[in-house]
Amino acid sequence: MTDSVVTRFAPSPTGFLHIGGARTALFNWLYARKRGGKMLLRIEDTDRERSTEPAIAAILDGLKWLGLDWDGEVVYQFTGAARHREVAEQLLAAGKAYRCYATPEELTAMREKARAEGRTRLYDGLWRDRDPSEAPAGLKPTIRLRAPQQGETVIEDQVQGRVVWLNENLDDLVLLRGDGNPTYMLAVVVDDHDMGVTHIIRGDDHLINAARQKQIYDALGWDLPNMSHIPLIHGPDGSKLSKRHGALGVDAYRAMGYLPAALRNYLVRLGWSHGDQEIFSTEEMIAAFDLSGIGRSAARFDFAKLESLNGHYIRHSDDQSLVTMFEDVLDYVPNGSDVKAKLNETTRAQLLQAMPSLKERAKTLIELIDSAYFIFADRPLEIEPKAAGLLTPENRELIGRLRLALEAVTPWTAATTEAAMRAFAEMSNLKLGTVAQPLRVALTGRTTSPGIFDVLAVLGRQECLARLGDQAPS
Ligand code: GLU
Repeated sequence: MTDSVVTRFAPSPTGFLHIGGARTALFNWLYARKRGGKMLLRIEDTDRERSTEPAIAAILDGLKWLGLDWDGEVVYQFTGAARHREVAEQLLAAGKAYRCYATPEELTAMREKARAEGRTRLYDGLWRDRDPSEAPAGLKPTIRLRAPQQGETVIEDQVQGRVVWLNENLDDLVLLRGDGNPTYMLAVVVDDHDMGVTHIIRGDDHLINAARQKQIYDALGWDLPNMSHIPLIHGPDGSKLSKRHGALGVDAYRAMGYLPAALRNYLVRLGWSHGDQEIFSTEEMIAAFDLSGIGRSAARFDFAKLESLNGHYIRHSDDQSLVTMFEDVLDYVPNGSDVKAKLNETTRAQLLQAMPSLKERAKTLIELIDSAYFIFADRPLEIEPKAAGLLTPENRELIGRLRLALEAVTPWTAATTEAAMRAFAEMSNLKLGTVAQPLRVALTGRTTSPGIFDVLAVLGRQECLARLGDQAPS
């Protein structure tokens, strides 16, 4: 295919994979998959001081968890430094760049002057046309782009439309620092070109960089990739996204018990729409995704919506995969290791059996873990204060009698235990609820639980009779 699409996700490993980055990755992934192209992953680690190994690991891990795979090997930008230098030298040789010997003091003075005069071009062109023989001794020069001083730089952005900058407002960019290290702006252009990137999809905080990068592309005679700058994610009130509003790492969403499929579905709708469809399977997302569906206004992060989507995905997941996800998430949640220690063949089977009932109520895997508590609880059960009030002497006595009635039930299923309880209630002249509530407390230690007959069936005869025995008068 001649017009094969190549996108890339290019995170700087200075922190975790935050939610905005995850959305950018998703959009790039979807676009590549939709067009039968490739999505590459480039770790932009040129800032040696701020890039860390744990951040790289968190990014790779977050992408994998979200199910966003990339094509080929991960590219580490820093390894291309020699190539970036070569391109800067090439521009120098062609007269499209020049050596700048301005001292830090001179640069500061220029900046202050420009700011005082309200100009956005900060560098005054001091060395643009000056003869290098005038260079002060001992000062390592930077290499700057000889950017056009008149005319316009235009980006035809797929999301923002036609964006125009007056060249008189743009600086002669530094391409290579005095220490010979390439700047981020040069590295991005060279890498995108060398990696064959055809489409750049990223946050609109990079829009001004698109103009700067376009000038480098022009100087090199390279074609500019197709550009899409997506509006950033804001908080529910329209302000900058704060931690409280969801500006967290993808790992935090995993620890909060969200399913990757639900988060993907939530993220795709943050800033992109397809009619009024809200729920998208991965295949549907790939089929429907297009740049034209990306809106121009900032998307607002809404935890309630994410939660309700997650509940939908939990309800529609099959029971066995929920058991697997339940187990996986235990490594990421507080006290997960306590539950993990109690996972064995029996409790796994009980969890699977309880799942149809558990999954109806849970909006997150955390809620699922919480409501499965009764499976893993040790005898004698810890009784919640609210539930303890129900264990009156009368009710304890009732529990004792009920225990006797249940002892005779065989086989032990939700249906047979239900029949036995109904018969018991009738015989005792009590409403079913009057019997069920103390029973629930004795079996789960709480006043709320999945359906009581499910609880009976899941725990099995022996455990139920033992728990009832614990609360019955001795
Ligand atoms: N490394 C940049 C960032 O993490 C992205 C650069 C780009 O997409 O061009 O914000």
